[in-house]
Amino acid sequence: MAPPLITDRLLRSWLRCRRRAWLDRHGDPGQRLWTAHRALALSDQLASFQSLLPEKPGHGEAACAAAAPGVVGLRLRGRSGADVALEAHPALLERVPGASVWGEHAYRPVLGRQGRNPPREHRWLRARWGRLLAERQQAPVPQALVVAGAGRALQRERLTLSGGLQAQLEEALSKLALELGRREPPPLVADRKKCVLCSWRGLCDQEARRDGHLSEVSGIGGRRREMLLDQGITSLPQLAASDPQQLAEALAVHGDQHRDSAAALVAQARVQASGRPECLLPEGPEPLPELATAPGVLLYDIESDPDARDDFLHGFVVVRRDSGGAWPRLPQPGESWPYRPLLALQEHGEERLWRRLRRYLAGYPGWPLLHYGETEAIALLRLARRQGADEAEVTALRARLLDVHARLRRHWRLPVNSYGLKAVAGWLGFRWSQNGVDGARCLLWWRQWRRDGGARRLQRIFTYNRDDNLATWAVVRWLLDQEA
Ligand code: SF4
Repeated sequence: MAPPLITDRLLRSWLRCRRRAWLDRHGDPGQRLWTAHRALALSDQLASFQSLLPEKPGHGEAACAAAAPGVVGLRLRGRSGADVALEAHPALLERVPGASVWGEHAYRPVLGRQGRNPPREHRWLRARWGRLLAERQQAPVPQALVVAGAGRALQRERLTLSGGLQAQLEEALSKLALELGRREPPPLVADRKKCVLCSWRGLCDQEARRDGHLSEVSGIGGRRREMLLDQGITSLPQLAASDPQQLAEALAVHGDQHRDSAAALVAQARVQASGRPECLLPEGPEPLPELATAPGVLLYDIESDPDARDDFLHGFVVVRRDSGGAWPRLPQPGESWPYRPLLALQEHGEERLWRRLRRYLAGYPGWPLLHYGETEAIALLRLARRQGADEAEVTALRARLLDVHARLRRHWRLPVNSYGLKAVAGWLGFRWSQNGVDGARCLLWWRQWRRDGGARRLQRIFTYNRDDNLATWAVVRWLLDQEA
């Protein structure tokens, strides 16, 4: 196999998951899934760069020689100490004082940061860009610049490129080159939460399912998996066949929490192995007693931009009993249920949003507000308090909010590897009307709409939000059906 050329992308992938880098190089590109996370990071980075350098940057070596204030598209090549071929594309170079091969100026690399903390991979990219840039411009690169936010909120942070980091980078590059030369991919990453962001998740999910990987059991993250491996339990079927009491005793050394979770983990694995749901409270109350007398319900789902702490859309679907008094199933093809999206534009202020929400909810007095997960209840009650709602109003609102996810977890164990809405409603056969759309994609549309407008983008956001509400109804319907 030809020695690999280590690009920024391979290094970035490897730092997230060693298998990912291997698949980037050797995997079947047809198996890759598009993911919105990279597009989101790039669009944030672009906004930060445009705030830092409002003029369009120059391109490549010629722009460096012409002393452009900002340069993109410069390809840097070099070799590591262990003779590994390297290629890097700094996202942006900023002109700084100093003499270089290009004249009486030099450059330093700039990176955009998404969120509050820079990811681990940034350190390595900075070090790598700094080293290769120093070679190319024949002048030291003592610092890199990290920017975040945009406009007047742009944050700048200068970070020193230390020699110690270069030594670690050399070591990492040698390991990466070695692993890329292997014929077999590294194993699945221990903490599979990371897989949500990865374009190889479809392929890896298939493999995990096929092999009964322990991460397929809902409730098992990287740490618990290690504990189970220490006990000689390496797969879902093995966990399902374990004795819960013995496992609890074995896990007690890791603390009460892990001892107490043993029985639930074995039970979950058994349900997943059998494919049959298990009722946890067969003699207990119904999961949704509030629906017994309600004339109708509102399904409620919020879309958020977590980095901006912005709940930008509150969407509601109205569900009424049919003429015979029964709850309807999902809308039939060609049928649509009333959907009300309330956009929350920050420039309009929270007071206006609260007024609109209050007016809308008052149109359905006492109707339960069904949502999946705690986000909606927390956000709505906090909003009410901030807007000065009195205790009686907050109490009445709280009494209407009904978390379908919490009720489901209390009453049922399902053969699903996650109790998130996508996994549960998907298991019930619900299909979202827009293929491959997730929260990250919706957020990308939102940011694009805020920047460039576009009625189609907004419509897609509404469709996604409405579908999430209908998926919640699919779960409610299933719970009601089990009562019958
Ligand atoms: S899906 Fe997960 S295990 Fe597979 S390559 Fe990506 S991060 Fe690694």
